[in-house]
This record gives sequence, C-alpha cells and structure tokens, in this order.
Amino acid sequence: MTTFDESPAVRRLTDWDLPRLETLADEYGTPLYVMDLDRVKENYARFSAAFPDAEVMYAAKAHTGKAVLEAVLDVGGEIECAAWGELERSVQAGADPNAMQYTAVNPPDHDLDYAVDLAAENPGLTITIGATDTLDRLAERDYDGRIAIRINPGIGTGHHEKVATGADAKFGIPYEQVPEVAKRVREEFDLVGLHSHAGSGVLTEGLEDHCKAIARVGEMARRIDDSDLEFVDVGGGYGVPYREDDEPLDLERTAKMVRDAVGDVEATLKLEPGRYIVADAGLILTEVNTIKEAPDSTVVGVDASLATMVRPAMFGSYHPMLNVSAPDREPHPATVGGPVCTSADVFAHDRPIARPERGDMLAIGNAGSYGYELASQFHSQPRPAEVGLEDGEARVVRRRETLEDVTRVEQ
Ligand SMILES: *Cc1c(COP(=O)(O)O)cnc(C)c1O
Repeated sequence: MTTFDESPAVRRLTDWDLPRLETLADEYGTPLYVMDLDRVKENYARFSAAFPDAEVMYAAKAHTGKAVLEAVLDVGGEIECAAWGELERSVQAGADPNAMQYTAVNPPDHDLDYAVDLAAENPGLTITIGATDTLDRLAERDYDGRIAIRINPGIGTGHHEKVATGADAKFGIPYEQVPEVAKRVREEFDLVGLHSHAGSGVLTEGLEDHCKAIARVGEMARRIDDSDLEFVDVGGGYGVPYREDDEPLDLERTAKMVRDAVGDVEATLKLEPGRYIVADAGLILTEVNTIKEAPDSTVVGVDASLATMVRPAMFGSYHPMLNVSAPDREPHPATVGGPVCTSADVFAHDRPIARPERGDMLAIGNAGSYGYELASQFHSQPRPAEVGLEDGEARVVRRRETLEDVTRVEQ
C-alpha cells in the first residue's frame, strides 16, 4: 500500500473503478454524489507533505460534509471556516475549536455571536478580520482574544488588474492601512497572524501572480515586525486539472515558490486549500433519460441539473464526463443537459462522449469541491444522496432528500 502522501498528483475520471460506480448508481439511485474519502485523505497528506513545516488547514466551504471533515481530521488536518454553520458542522465532526480559524467576511451578527461564544470556551480559536468594523463589533461583545488580520494585497500591484477592482476590495484590510490596524489589534486584542487569500483555481500559469500577492503578505509581516506573530497565512486557491489535458499542479515547485515569495519571516507559514483537497475526490453519477437528434447536435438529457451542481451554469466551468455504462463505445458529440428550464442547465456542449443511450450512467468528474455545497432545491428538486467510499466500503453519508424535505419548512 502506498502511503497517503505518495499518492498520484492527479486523478482523472478514467482512473475510477467504473463497474463499481455503475453498481453504486443502481444501488443508491441517481443523481448521486460519490465522495472518495480515502482520496480526500491522500490529497490532504500530499499537500501537507509538500509544505513540511507549514500548517495546512482545510477550507471547509469547498465541501462541509461531515464525512469529508472527519476524513481531514483523521489525517491530522485542521479546519478553516468562513461562516457559523461551518463552525458548527466542524465542531460536530469532532474538530477542536482551539485549532480552528474563523474568517469573517461582512459577518452577520449571529456569526459573530457564535464565534465569540465558541472562543469563550476555546481560547485557541482565531478570528480573522477584514474590516475594522468587525473589530468594533467584537469589542462590543467583550472579545479580546486571538485575531488575524486579512490583508488585501491588491493595492500597489498595478498589473494585477483583478485584485484592484472594487469587488475585491470586499476582502481584507487595504494594504496601507494594515500597520495602523495591527497597532490597534495589538493594543485591544491578541494579534496572532496575518492572512491573505488571493484567488482560486490557480494552476501553473497563475502561480506567479498568486505568489506576487503572497509576497505582499511576507513584506507586511516584516514591516509590522512579526516577532510576536504565530503565523502568516497565505490562504488557498490551489487548482486541480479539470480538463483532460491540464497538467496537475507541481506541488514541490509550488511550495518552493510560495516559500520564496513569503520570504524571511519568523512566524509559521499556514495554508488553507479547499478545492485541492476535495475536487477530484468527488463525482456525480447521472442517468440518461432522453436522447434527441436535433439538426445541429445530439441532445442527451440526464437527471442531474444545475440544482445538483451549478458550477458549469454559474462559472462556465468545464467538468470531465464519461459514459460509465459503455466507456468503449464510439465517441459522439453530445450536448448534455438536465431537467431545469433554462439554457444554462447544460453540463457539456457537443462534447465527444462514448455514444450515450437511454438508461446509461454518466459520470461528471471533479465534483467534490463547490459541488454539493452549492446544490439547491431549485425546481423543487430534493437534493441528491451522497455516498462515501472509505477503506473499500461504500456508505451513504448524506441521504437523498425527499419531497417532504422540500416542503417541510413552509408554514
Ligand atoms: C474559499 C477560501 C479558501 C479556499 O479556496 P480554494 O480555492 O478552494 O482553495 C481559503 N481561504 C478562504 C478565506 C476562503 O474564503
């Protein structure tokens, strides 16, 4: 058996055990999320091994399922949360709040109340702030505990167009205000770290820009004197290959570039990957219910929709697809869409797929991150079941919702 950190850097859809997937679809119905929890552990261990003396926290919002959180905790991982629900679910999964970080972005009152209450019992909890209003609101709650300052690294990096937009000003303290805010935090709270989370889905080409943002955090650590800081946290954003010919991130090179970018700091390096840990551990199985030969394309209707996974509709994301039932059939261009009445409800346009027939099972790959978390009941669809694979066993980790689950909260 290979140890977790020697696992392959990439897992393509074709690497899955296809006959087993078909059995799972038969047994548990479709659409079905499948999460390989062993792969979650492998991804976490491999990422951590590339950063030997850094602390790697899993950014829970990529997939906050209990089984996923438990898998991360199982291999010694820590959890970063961005909302009260994520804190609650992490605690329920067995995470030690003293080792958790809560990143507050325009936090609603109940989020702050929850975090402050949790910190009262667990003084190791760190709250990351991105606005001085959050400090005021924490002080109003008599909080004087651990604070990390989220830095907006955008200011001054002129060629880094996206970081300079108003939308990104939403995140973090404007760079030049950080020393002043750090002074206040040192006086009124316990300043433990600096933080920045620059972007998402960074692969080889995006790495240099990513590191420019990271370098600004290291620079700021030196500027405000990091001798009393515990950590410099450079966030997540590490990408996975969605397209069949995308290369996986070279972790060793990435780790070296990140270290070089942060530069000489006394504080411990922290990272918060989300997508990287869970993306290729998950897929969706969906059954073909309609084949329609239209003049320009073959339309393949499936039972998954943008309510099951919204990434293609929301971000135009590419997800690999495979005919699990008949992978060896001649590839045929297929436009694969679900039952929702909008043209955005399409997973692939004219994609060559082993010619699907009604009743076939298709797999949609790399669905483990921002997949189930963004699933909705749109079209009054109950959300799908999720099956976890671990140590050779399959088990339902989230049951399929029923129509009653859809109507139960209405008065
Ligand atoms: C979303 C998020 C992450 C994880 O981002 P990925 O792109 O999934 O790695 C890390 N840190 C913070 C603060 C986030 O909001």
